[in-house]
Amino acid sequence: MGKPTGFLEFTRELPKKRPVEERLHDYNEFVHLYEEERLNHQAARCMDCGIPFCNHGCPVGNLIPDFNDAIYRKNWKEAYEILSATNNFPEFTGRICPAPCESSCVLGINQPAVTIEEIEKHVIEIAFQKGYVQPFKGIVRSGKKVAVVGSGPAGLAAAAQLNYAGHTVTVYERDDTPGGLLRYGIPDFKLEKWVVERRLKIMEEEGVVFKCNAEVGVNVSMNDLLRNNHAIVLAGGSTIPRDLKIPGRDLNGVAFAMDFLKQQNKRVSNRPSINELTATGKNVVVIGGGDTGSDCVGTSNRHGAVSVTQFELMPMPPASRTPFMPWPTYPMVLKTTSSHEEGAARQWAVSTKEFIGDENGNLKALKIVDLEWKLTPDGRPAQFVEIQGSEREIPCELALLAMGFLHPQHAGLLNELGVELDDRGNVKASEKMYQTNIQKVFSAGDMRRGQSLVVWAIAEGRECAAKVDEYLAGF
Ligand code: FAD
Repeated sequence: MGKPTGFLEFTRELPKKRPVEERLHDYNEFVHLYEEERLNHQAARCMDCGIPFCNHGCPVGNLIPDFNDAIYRKNWKEAYEILSATNNFPEFTGRICPAPCESSCVLGINQPAVTIEEIEKHVIEIAFQKGYVQPFKGIVRSGKKVAVVGSGPAGLAAAAQLNYAGHTVTVYERDDTPGGLLRYGIPDFKLEKWVVERRLKIMEEEGVVFKCNAEVGVNVSMNDLLRNNHAIVLAGGSTIPRDLKIPGRDLNGVAFAMDFLKQQNKRVSNRPSINELTATGKNVVVIGGGDTGSDCVGTSNRHGAVSVTQFELMPMPPASRTPFMPWPTYPMVLKTTSSHEEGAARQWAVSTKEFIGDENGNLKALKIVDLEWKLTPDGRPAQFVEIQGSEREIPCELALLAMGFLHPQHAGLLNELGVELDDRGNVKASEKMYQTNIQKVFSAGDMRRGQSLVVWAIAEGRECAAKVDEYLAGF
């Protein structure tokens, strides 16, 4: 612990952000870096608890008190070495992680938690500035070949670790460029794409080969991969979105959130994009209250929507406070993101019953109804019921469906391989071994665990790589 009294002297402060009215005119990140003294004070707030719960709360197990201490002492290189020992991509998590470490911070019991996520971002950005992050050139080759399918954070983490272990790694990506959701899901205002490209360049210089426009199971044969590699890691993500099959679903103007976000990310990167889904001049309704929904809110505001409304199925706390759920803030329900700071009407416990179109087949309104939770006598949520007389229409020319993802795509790769799936339709592979029912085929990330977080994808990629390495050592 750098400063034993730090947590008594300094309060939690986040770095400044660009003002809303300015940032809405571009797609760039808007969170500034701390000045050095402020960074030092924030790191000083870490109490170096006897049992650092933050370390356990972090899926990759970041050694948080240790790098906080190094940052406090301004030993930037040491801080970088501590952080990069557990996380291949702190520049991603330092920007977009919901920071379960901060929810586990002991200081959070009676004061706001240490700003761990921001400190993490500073450690890695300072390391890049000072030239500490260099391609590792001393890799001793094992003679074994591994194919990784999918280049999201899980595939990238697995590829990086397997490459360090000496195996020759080729990453197959069906999109025109690597990165998975970091590239074509998460908007630039949360994660600018040069950050992804900077890391990919290092990985390439270290020897990882990327093959894009290569969809395994479609234009790359899985049998060929099996024949030509000693192991395969499936890291194709969870890509099948939950649909809302109500009347009017086929109208122009009803779209999946990912189609909208992907097009925008392609436009920002000056890459060819099909279908021009835009929110400009429209009343936009985003159906779904998670990260994807928030990203649609931020993007619609940048397009210049007339209005942006976000629907959430859950009731707003404290309406949800029951003997079953005594806490005033049901996890996630009150989640507020930077996109909400930029303007959006949020409606809680609302269900969409119908998409209403005009004579040309274009969406013009939504028919919605309010819901209430019917509770069992002991206060458990039993079912939603519609509130009689609350049915109404609201104007809407663009409805974006952001209600989560069901499972990975089965057509193509998974069907051709005949890999066993779990009850939710994800690839079945245990959390301990990451091995599927097919010999030498492993799986990690959203494709295995279901839709989750970048930090979990990195954690799974790393752990899966360790299991693949163990397997390869056996012959
Ligand atoms: P993905 O990132 O989905 O990557 C899978 C890759 O595999 C894709 O590039 C896909 O094209 C490729 N692929 C699939 N099948 C094949 C095939 N047959 N052949 C070749 N390639 C294939 N998490 C956070 O922590 N913070 C956030 O702020 C956040 N925001 C999000 C915003 C949006 C809009 C979305 C959709 C998700 C967000 N998430 C966020 C979740 C996070 O992005 C995912 O959990 C994470 O990217 C999963 O990583 P992955 O590597 O398992 O899969």
